Amino acid sequence: MTAEPTRHPLPISRACPRCAGDILAALRVPHGWRTEQGIEVSGTTEILLCARCDVDDPVTGPIAAFFAVHQVVTDQTVGVLSRLIRRWAENAKAPRLDQAALDAEVDAWYRDDL
Ligand SMILES: [Zn+2]
Repeated sequence: MTAEPTRHPLPISRACPRCAGDILAALRVPHGWRTEQGIEVSGTTEILLCARCDVDDPVTGPIAAFFAVHQVVTDQTVGVLSRLIRRWAENAKAPRLDQAALDAEVDAWYRDDL
C-alpha cells in the first residue's frame, strides 16, 4: 500500500500588481535608503514572482515552469522547488526607487490626474 503524497498548497492568494496574474511566490528582503536629510531608513520589501511577468527571466522562469507543470508541491517535488527558490533568493535584489516615476506620480496627484 502506497501512502498518498502530501500536497502543499500555495499560501499566496493575491494578484500581481503589474498584470493581475497569479503570484506564485514572494521573497521578503532587506530594503532601505537614505533620505534627503541623510537619515538611513531600513526595513523590508517583497519581491513577487508572477506566473506571467517573470516567465522569461532565467532565474524565475524555471519556478514558473515548475508550477505550470506540477501546479502543487508534493513530497516528491519539494526538493526541486527548494533548489529553484534558493537560487532565486540568492540572486534577488530589492527594487530600486524609480525617482522619475515617483516624481511623475506626485505631479499627477497635484494635477488631480491619478
Ligand atoms: Zn504579472
